[in-house]
Amino acid sequence: MARFPITADSAVSYPGPPPAQTDVVVIGGGVIGVCTALYLTEAGQRVTLLEKGRIAGEQSSRNWGWIRQQGRDPAELPIMMQARRDWCDLARRTNTDFGLRQGGTVYLARDDAKLAGYARWQAIAQAHDLDTELLSAAQTAALFPGLTGTFKGALRTASDMHAEPALAVPALAAIAARAGVTIVENCAVRALDIAAGRVAGVVHEAGRIAADSVVLAGGAWSSLFLANHGVHIPQLSVRDTVLATQPLPEVTLGTASNGRVAFRRRADGGYTLAPSGASELFIGPDAFRALPKFLPQLRDSPWAQTYLPMAPKGYPDGWRTPRRWTPISAPRSRTCAY
Ligand SMILES: Cc1cc2nc3c(=O)[nH]c(=O)nc-3n(C[C@H](O)[C@H](O)[C@H](O)COP(=O)(O)OP(=O)(O)OC[C@H]3O[C@@H](n4cnc5c(N)ncnc54)[C@H](O)[C@@H]3O)c2cc1C
Repeated sequence: MARFPITADSAVSYPGPPPAQTDVVVIGGGVIGVCTALYLTEAGQRVTLLEKGRIAGEQSSRNWGWIRQQGRDPAELPIMMQARRDWCDLARRTNTDFGLRQGGTVYLARDDAKLAGYARWQAIAQAHDLDTELLSAAQTAALFPGLTGTFKGALRTASDMHAEPALAVPALAAIAARAGVTIVENCAVRALDIAAGRVAGVVHEAGRIAADSVVLAGGAWSSLFLANHGVHIPQLSVRDTVLATQPLPEVTLGTASNGRVAFRRRADGGYTLAPSGASELFIGPDAFRALPKFLPQLRDSPWAQTYLPMAPKGYPDGWRTPRRWTPISAPRSRTCAY
């Protein structure tokens, strides 16, 4: 099995020190924080990004790498179509290879009910002028030479793309740093600095930064961080499993799922494989609090998750995860986020 290159023990690329003052502090060095910092700097803001571990050390380097429009919620689809254009624009104007390729996405249908669902989604795609097509069984088989299973057909969006997350986000961070963003790794933000009822900056592991604005891009840790300030956002933490193989022969150019397994061939020839639509949800206090908001989704697909009572140590929504802390009492980032 191939290993993911970014771990907590990877060398620090951005040691700091953090400045005393900036216009905007971005909390979190995943794809959202890094892109936010880059675009804000390009808009003329002085930006400091603080990351508790390594740039892209969490889900932003371990995800499937699909830049997928297909199958999105109708409200999300225009955002995904814009995101695809933004990735192309970023690659072109920075002349950077993010591993960006247009190979399309294919969802294989085992039965008529699945195919009918795909046909319903194709109508949504058509309303947005997206190039999604419904493939017959013969067209599907032709797309995957050597396919052993029998499929009724498939849904395909040829304009869908993919990239190499473990390369793309560190590359974007380097572009942001060159553009003027101050990035500091291994530096957790412990709390917002609140003065006279408004945000005045952040308190981090090594001191304070004064700033008029703070953007929280803390991924799975965001709701825990905000709850300490009495702000509750409906966010659930789920754990997904993904694996990387050694190089294997090419099966398809793009990304595909048969409803059970999702896969993409990486630029190094290996595959990123994962169970399709299956997550582990560790039920903790946030899960109970957010239940009313997530009920419709739960009714639609009750068994998309495995429900587990005991979260691993340090999990965002664990029963023993500290919910309240002062900047001084916050635990070190290596053992727990705060
Ligand atoms: C298995 C898997 C597959 C996925 N596949 C896809 C896909 O194919 N396509 C797709 O578009 N999306 C996919 N996603 C989703 C995608 O990975 C996420 O939406 C995206 O990475 C979120 O980025 P982020 O920057 O918000 O969060 P993260 O990458 O989690 O980054 C948040 C960062 O904030 C840091 N942080 C948190 N708290 C603090 C603090 N107090 N101080 C300092 N730093 C802090 C964390 O250390 C972390 O590095 C997948 C996700 C998973 C788990």
